Amino acid sequence: MMYWNTPETFDVIVVGAGHAGVEAAFAAARMGCKTVLLTMSLDTVCKMSCNPAIGGTAKGHIVREVDALGGEMGKVIDITGIQFRMLNATKGPAVWAPRAQADKVAYSNEMKRRLEKTPNLYLKQGTAEELLVENGQAVGIGTKEGIAYRAKTVIISSGTFMKGLIHIGENNFSGGRAGDPPSVGLSASLEKHGVKIGRLKTGTPPRIHKRSIDFSLTEEQPGEPGIKFSYDDEGIPRLPQIPCHITYTTEETKQIILANIHRSPMYSGKIVGVGPRYCPSIEDKVVRFSDKERHQIFLEPEGLHTDEVYVNGVSSSLPFDVQLAYIRSIPALRNAEIMRPAYAIEYDYVLSGQIDFSLACKTIDGLFLAGQVNGTTGYEEAAGQGIMAGINAACKVLGKKPFVLTRSEAYLGVMIDDLVTKGVDEPYRMFTSRAEHRLLLRQDNADIRLRGYGYQLGLINEQQHARLLHKKETIEKEMVRLTTIFKQFDDRGFSLAQLLCRPENSYASLLLQYPESVVDHGAEINFQIELNLKYEGYISRQQSEIAKLSHVESIRLPPDFDYNKVHGLRNEARQKLAKVMPQNLGQASRISGVSPSDISVIMIALMKRDQEPPTCG
Ligand SMILES: Cc1cc2nc3c(=O)[nH]c(=O)nc-3n(C[C@H](O)[C@H](O)[C@H](O)COP(=O)(O)OP(=O)(O)OC[C@H]3O[C@@H](n4cnc5c(N)ncnc54)[C@H](O)[C@@H]3O)c2cc1C
Repeated sequence: MMYWNTPETFDVIVVGAGHAGVEAAFAAARMGCKTVLLTMSLDTVCKMSCNPAIGGTAKGHIVREVDALGGEMGKVIDITGIQFRMLNATKGPAVWAPRAQADKVAYSNEMKRRLEKTPNLYLKQGTAEELLVENGQAVGIGTKEGIAYRAKTVIISSGTFMKGLIHIGENNFSGGRAGDPPSVGLSASLEKHGVKIGRLKTGTPPRIHKRSIDFSLTEEQPGEPGIKFSYDDEGIPRLPQIPCHITYTTEETKQIILANIHRSPMYSGKIVGVGPRYCPSIEDKVVRFSDKERHQIFLEPEGLHTDEVYVNGVSSSLPFDVQLAYIRSIPALRNAEIMRPAYAIEYDYVLSGQIDFSLACKTIDGLFLAGQVNGTTGYEEAAGQGIMAGINAACKVLGKKPFVLTRSEAYLGVMIDDLVTKGVDEPYRMFTSRAEHRLLLRQDNADIRLRGYGYQLGLINEQQHARLLHKKETIEKEMVRLTTIFKQFDDRGFSLAQLLCRPENSYASLLLQYPESVVDHGAEINFQIELNLKYEGYISRQQSEIAKLSHVESIRLPPDFDYNKVHGLRNEARQKLAKVMPQNLGQASRISGVSPSDISVIMIALMKRDQEPPTCG
């Protein structure tokens, strides 16, 4: 195809202004790179393809990590959220997770406004058709509109759009998501340059009109005050807050679905892509959990200026008539008017094994991949990869070392390590159980873990950094001080730190009991002091485990290590190791199919190799 070359060249091109693309573009531009964010439609920036919500278990942790590094997702949801809650608040602090319903149009508009105001960032409408590659190096993007943008690096974050195929029962048609065209040429262009492509699938429920819901048959779920995502407060007032509602499917729902299961493209074999097991469609739930009498449904408003309601829990690819019948089998939804049908979508993604820890493509220099295109699902997972890809593209342009987070530092480290080391064969979403050090990776301490990096990278300003240093210092000093003040309790002397560790006490209760000795530093700092003291034993145990593990992480595996020559290695391990080519022994140990005894065998082989005299020539 013939292209008109733009007169200026760029440092970074980001393809796709979804949740990954915008964070990538913000990061690269703020690090001083001239960045173009190229997207199919400027009217759908950061559109929420599925549920109108940000955060949730483990996802909320990622939003806070993105915020700690200097990203935008947390700030924007704080000012466009219409219901905030802390999930799992009755469980341990490691799994507490903020979640917010969004006014999805306000969210999208606010993100676009911020992109437009960012220096170095050029927002362009256009559809990437071709990755331009010269001598193995990505040099730009050619668009459907006949324009070529040239740059030193390219980030692809095209979401569910590459060869997207939408399924509603027996009908299917091309689309990137409902209402948007697919991206047709891009994955073919990637394949032409040797990138291996696979197929995945996801689905979404119907949206119904609010006036057709009988709210008297639902349970109201109000939000909670004081929950927020960002560590910064921009002083912008919150939107009015509104509740969600809960209802349930019935035996009739189940029977309707079972009677029509053969019409679901997933069951008839029409869909070949693999879907997310943990986020099943309603037909999957009915089949797989057949003993369950009912399934919970959340009725979630899509915004303040619309009457559309998202029916969370009943995503489906069944035909429309079946959707209407099963929705109307729910008492509160007897008269439901479906405004948008549920559908499933199949799309191309980049098969695992082709990116490194900086999210760079191993075979095309200067190409980075982020978001759904890497096999993940979720806005937050996408945003997390986006900021990391943006940072790393900028590092490459600026001649700096790649920025990589470890599994013990961040969920972002866990996710990227999983993508690189374990790979995905179904859409990957984050869970707290994926993190082995989850007591350290709490949502409340993401700033303490990561803000320093954001500052070093130039994404966190002096003022934000000064606030962080003050916070850290206050926590440290106060923890020590509380060990030095003693109070009489049950006829014995206890330090305030010891008293705080008792299960019946909290920082707030000690403040009331001993106002002369306990200082109120504000909820955020008080909470850190309380958690650090209460969980001191567990935290230091996890820290010493990390210290032990860092030993294996530091044993490097040579890039030319030949696993075929290692005696005693099982075949499965040999194949997996040769495919992933881990950088160190720690990474090797996390590859599925590699056992602890394989690791011992490799260690022995490494020791022997080190003893061998270097070969001449
Ligand atoms: C039907 C459906 C159901 C989903 N269900 C869930 C769910 O249950 N849970 C969940 O967590 N997530 C779900 N998601 C996924 C969620 O929407 C994505 O994980 C998330 O949006 C991915 O972010 P992203 O930035 O990678 O891509 P997207 O948000 O998809 O953004 C991609 C962007 O790239 C642009 N683009 C694509 N190709 C090109 C091109 N060639 N040139 C220029 N621009 C391009 C698009 O216009 C879009 O703006 C669902 C998505 C869909 C479509």
